[in-house]
Amino acid sequence: MQSMNPNASPQRFDLHCHSTASDGVLSPQEILERADAQGVALLAITDHDTVAGVRALLDADFAVGTALLPGIELTCTDGQRVLHLVGLGIDVDDGTLGQHLDTLIATRMERADSILDQLRKRRLPLEWSQVEAAAGGAPPGRVHFARVLVECGAADSVSQAFKRYLADGKLRLGNTPWPSLDSAVAAIIGAGGVAVLAHPRHYNLTRTRALALLRRFVSAGGEAIEVISGANSPLNDIQRWSRTADELGLLVSAGSDFHAPSSWCELGKFPSLPGCNAPVWEHPKLHRWVDAEVGRLVCGAAFADMGRSHAADERNNA
Ligand SMILES: [Zn+2]
Ligand SMILES: [Zn+2]
Repeated sequence: MQSMNPNASPQRFDLHCHSTASDGVLSPQEILERADAQGVALLAITDHDTVAGVRALLDADFAVGTALLPGIELTCTDGQRVLHLVGLGIDVDDGTLGQHLDTLIATRMERADSILDQLRKRRLPLEWSQVEAAAGGAPPGRVHFARVLVECGAADSVSQAFKRYLADGKLRLGNTPWPSLDSAVAAIIGAGGVAVLAHPRHYNLTRTRALALLRRFVSAGGEAIEVISGANSPLNDIQRWSRTADELGLLVSAGSDFHAPSSWCELGKFPSLPGCNAPVWEHPKLHRWVDAEVGRLVCGAAFADMGRSHAADERNNA
């Protein structure tokens, strides 16, 4: 069984996690309560292509010691490559973002149909109603199919279901018409948010390709990169993306990408951010959610005794 990276330590912020509104197993309220219990001062819930969970929390006016930063994780493409962008500090009621999400829901439903078809052709006895129930109102994604495959005995675990039936290469999903990188960044900016390239390690990019992608991201309006994604982010990888962020004047972000409680993933538990970069919560757009106290706590934990990079100073002085 996978265990927690010994370099992971409690952090006062977590800017990437998932609730039952997408493919997580805890409700938005349970996530916020768990973050509070873990000592997280600032939490962004960033469900895939939906703000339903964040909206439910904002509408309920439910409060704990943890401050909620409204977020999302948008699926998009850059050429043939599927990318995830985290949007932080978004207005969940923004109309243009709403239209963007409607398109994504339609795309996700068609993709779910196609996954069901492909699995049935492999003689797996799945019903749409089971998949719908597993998704609990969210558009079904691969992890929901994986949970149903475990339930019906076709796999022993979610990871085995992925390995056998759902991993890239096992399904034909190459033609899914996700929105472009440009339109996803525009949807985040239009809703008042900051666009962050999520988990760059997942895209297996060479240095040249990474720089080219990030330059396109910056010219579309992207402003930050997630240099830490989860407790098991390797240190050399963190250093790589931190240097790249510095080179391109990008802010840095970090989060657990928490989906479910496990021995290797926890809210607010991952390696500390390197000292040389400016954190995304210093962006003026996020000041509304990051009050002085939270900002002080967050910075105190992650950035004790170190200098700041030039990019944030320039931004703050602008
Ligand atoms: Zn992602
Ligand atoms: Zn995620």
